[in-house]
Amino acid sequence: MTIAFDHSYARDLPGTYLRATPDVAPAPRLLALNRPLTDALGLTLTDAEAADWFSGARLPPGADPIAQAYAGHQFGGFSPQLGDGRAHLLGEILTPSGRFDLQLKGSGRTPFSRGGDGKAAIGPMLREYLISEAMHALGIPTTRALAVVATGEEIWRETKLPGAVLARVAASHLRVGTFQFFAARGDQANVKAVADYAIARHYPDLAQADAPYLDFLDAVIAAQVRLVAQWMGVGFIHGVMNTDNMAISGETIDYGPCAFMEGYAPGTVFSSIDHQGRYAYANQPLILGWNLARLAETLVPLLDANPEKAVEIANDRLSGIAGRYRAEWLAVMRRKLGLVGDDKDDAPLADDLMTAMEGADWTLTFRRLTDEAALRPLFSDFSKMEAWLPRWRARAGEGAAQRVSQANPAVIPRNHQVEAALTAATNGDMAPFHALLSAIQKPFTEAEPYMLPAPTGFGQYVTFCGT
Ligand code: AMP
Ligand code: MG
Repeated sequence: MTIAFDHSYARDLPGTYLRATPDVAPAPRLLALNRPLTDALGLTLTDAEAADWFSGARLPPGADPIAQAYAGHQFGGFSPQLGDGRAHLLGEILTPSGRFDLQLKGSGRTPFSRGGDGKAAIGPMLREYLISEAMHALGIPTTRALAVVATGEEIWRETKLPGAVLARVAASHLRVGTFQFFAARGDQANVKAVADYAIARHYPDLAQADAPYLDFLDAVIAAQVRLVAQWMGVGFIHGVMNTDNMAISGETIDYGPCAFMEGYAPGTVFSSIDHQGRYAYANQPLILGWNLARLAETLVPLLDANPEKAVEIANDRLSGIAGRYRAEWLAVMRRKLGLVGDDKDDAPLADDLMTAMEGADWTLTFRRLTDEAALRPLFSDFSKMEAWLPRWRARAGEGAAQRVSQANPAVIPRNHQVEAALTAATNGDMAPFHALLSAIQKPFTEAEPYMLPAPTGFGQYVTFCGT
């Protein structure tokens, strides 16, 4: 099997990356291979080839690995140089459904590694595999995991851990931070080159538009607003919405300390390093707007020859984000609530549910809306919900039960299940991982015990960036 790679990024954007070679994994062992995805990509490779190619043990023929440059605002502070410090882009695969990047993550040091070791442990790589597959199964745009291969190497985090490489597939790895890298250096030629590349790759219809860069900004705003509204619908908390972790394609990218919220609380934060709650559940739409403003800043010189006018144009688009987000969120909520058509009272109905369901399990509350007996035990105080339900029933009408169960998952990757699967995998037992993976790949199929919230003894869940 050979992969027919193309290398448009390397070809079209000289000066935006550095050559780098993945480390050779000493004893690659395939832990997970995404067969539905290899099939979709037209890759008919063997397990042995997958173990070699997706660990860096042996590069697939035609791969031409590079590390991409990018910058980023991390927790609000600007780092002018980040870049792929532990990832290698092998190339792009052309398929009937488009062009996809194939990237290795955890594959060794690159010129962008700074003090890091360029490696990853199997826990975090399997975590990205699980959560990104869950997102995909939920219909939310995301990069996808192709394989996780244990390298046979031990790496140091707080303790010694088995190392692994994740192979992932993405519509592209262009980030808000890609634009920032060049804008911060005053390299306007490369900002334009990256914008032209992004337009050609993701929004080709815009190339002929009268104002392609403004339309491009609009298109990215639309894609990311839609994405975050979908995150909010399933209770997903990304955890590190730094500008280098926001993809221009509108896919969810860079799964680190992310997790799904269980009991609904707007201030929910899982990441151990997010002390201020910058990336808390309810802050995600606001941070989205902030990140998009950082993208807009890089595009200002392309919007109009007159700088004042350019800023005015950009600000006009940015000021529309809150309203656009609200409309997308309401669309998500209408779907979750099984509401057909638009009614002026849908917004207060959805808002009042948010107040009524505080503390109750996010996923199961929606799933059980039509079954009051099953709903009640999710609440410590059912009174607000009891008042809300008749309003909803009156609006939802006939067929609501079916619409609700089609729109609301039964199974999400529950934190305690994810932890149990990753701990077992780190200790050499992949069975819980594969069992959980098959449950989350069919999220609308009820499957005990994967539907149940964490037992009370599980305590407050904390996730780590040491990924
Ligand atoms: P992340 O938090 O994974 O989005 O990464 C933020 C930045 O840190 C990126 O530039 C990564 O390439 C870099 N980075 C993260 N972990 C490592 C590591 N183990 N070695 C080198 N660079 C890393
Ligand atoms: Mg990142």
